[in-house]
Amino acid sequence: MATDLDIARAATLRPIADIAAAAGIPADALIPYGRYKGKLDFGFIDTLQARPDGALVLVVGISPTPAGEGKTTTTIGLGDALRAAGKRTMIALREPSLGPCFGQKGGATGGGHAQVAPMDEINLHFTGDFHAITSANNLLAALLDNHLYWGNALGVDPRKIAVQRAIDMNDRSLRETVLGLGHGANGAAREQRFDITVASEVMAVFCLAKNLDDLQTRLARMVIAERRDGSAITPADINAAGAMTALLRDALQPNLVQTLEGTAALVHGGPFANIAHGCNSVMATSTALKLADYVVTEAGFGADLGGEKFLDIKCRQAGLAPSCAVVVATMRALKMHAGTAKADLGTPNPSAVAEGASNLRRHVAAMRAFGLPVIVAINGFLGDTEAERAALRAALDADDITAVFCTHWADGSAGAADLARAVVAATESKAARFAPLYPDDMPIADKLRTLVRRIYGGDDIELTPKAAKQIARLEARGYGSLPVCMAKTQYSFTADPARRGAPTGFTLPIRELRLSAGAGFVVALAGDILTMPGLPRIPAADSIGVNEAGEIFGIF
Ligand code: ADP
Ligand code: MG
Repeated sequence: MATDLDIARAATLRPIADIAAAAGIPADALIPYGRYKGKLDFGFIDTLQARPDGALVLVVGISPTPAGEGKTTTTIGLGDALRAAGKRTMIALREPSLGPCFGQKGGATGGGHAQVAPMDEINLHFTGDFHAITSANNLLAALLDNHLYWGNALGVDPRKIAVQRAIDMNDRSLRETVLGLGHGANGAAREQRFDITVASEVMAVFCLAKNLDDLQTRLARMVIAERRDGSAITPADINAAGAMTALLRDALQPNLVQTLEGTAALVHGGPFANIAHGCNSVMATSTALKLADYVVTEAGFGADLGGEKFLDIKCRQAGLAPSCAVVVATMRALKMHAGTAKADLGTPNPSAVAEGASNLRRHVAAMRAFGLPVIVAINGFLGDTEAERAALRAALDADDITAVFCTHWADGSAGAADLARAVVAATESKAARFAPLYPDDMPIADKLRTLVRRIYGGDDIELTPKAAKQIARLEARGYGSLPVCMAKTQYSFTADPARRGAPTGFTLPIRELRLSAGAGFVVALAGDILTMPGLPRIPAADSIGVNEAGEIFGIF
């Protein structure tokens, strides 16, 4: 069978200037990066601000399983189908991170006949944005250590340094490291970790910034360390924000690419969906909304995590309001939520589909809690059966949920034509009454409680004494009005990744709070969240290489 890379390579791509022109982007507003990639000039983006916004369509998933859901694939297939239906359409997606690309997950450019291209370039260095973000983060860390070295005039407490080094790689040996070994000139030894670049606050800041000015303001207010008295040290204090912004200037301009069918896509930024908010940049989404009548975008993980953060953090901060949400599921993943083993997913099992639909229903309810009309998209796999489809329809009927069956992975835009019709109908009905889930001024603990009760279907939170103290301190320092960013397992509504389906009667333990003052949210950690992934025993890198024709192979 043809791999994603085979299909991508067989497609004839159009020069990026043609894609830009068709999307209403003039030649002098496009900064080409090679033949098929380009960045949109800031000056051009400024000229768009007076235009009205198009409709924003949010694609989210159910709780992820090893069976895969295909959110990115569906976002692209839906975008292609909307354009095929005659709508001016743009897609907005995250940039892939190198770590997962060489690890287990592979790239993030969709699959089958619903892909953005050139997939090898987008999945590897792309336009260098993540390298720029890595450099900006590490410049900040170096400037802070340099400040300590030259006498520490600010009185930074070296035990209270929050900024970590970053690298865009899965490398577990960097989870706990010691810096400054040796004597004298090398600085004093202390512990530091490396985070994967996508988990750094600089990445989250980059993705929430509305423009260059806002980027610098956000960078300047990050809390990177404390003094002995607990007062904050920021990049502004060590005069780092200007140089960081200089490193990020080009990167902040959104990247334009195309789908295999020639739909314009802005692929830009890519924060983690646990420690951060998990969706592409505000710059890309806002710009796409000025250029198109329909913008299809994806949030990471399930609707409960990535979707909730998209709405409560990104939309709240950037003033965005989706016209509807599309919740993606697969028959295979639903079966896994009913306890079916991965090895048995090929066997038709309508009753498991019906049982696993409990997970899907709760994610639909989560999106409805924000006032959004919801459409379920079943991303069709080749072995799906009519009996399973009928079982799913019956399981969703009671809650008045519409499910649309799609085959865009196999068929491209034609396979998502019904989904596009449903999205247009939901958008044109103007039924959306979007509002964030909680008001800014709700106390932090109540915000967390609201998430557990209204989104996850649990009873309450349970704060460790340390977490309770941290909340009190955050509120005393004036950060109580920030939205919360839940860092919990994506595999379950509970804190236990093994509890699939739709568990009830649970409390969510909150272990620790972390401030992301630049990004503008408070992270709540429910369980151990890795900010530096490892590689599996046989990583994807094992099969990646370059052939005699100079073509990269093995990326998926
Ligand atoms: P997500 O965005 O939910 O993580 P992706 O869209 O990136 O998922 O898809 C993950 C992988 O699953 C990709 O390699 C893609 O090719 C594959 N995939 C997606 N949809 C299908 C499908 N309908 N049939 C077969 N493989 C699929
Ligand atoms: Mg994805």
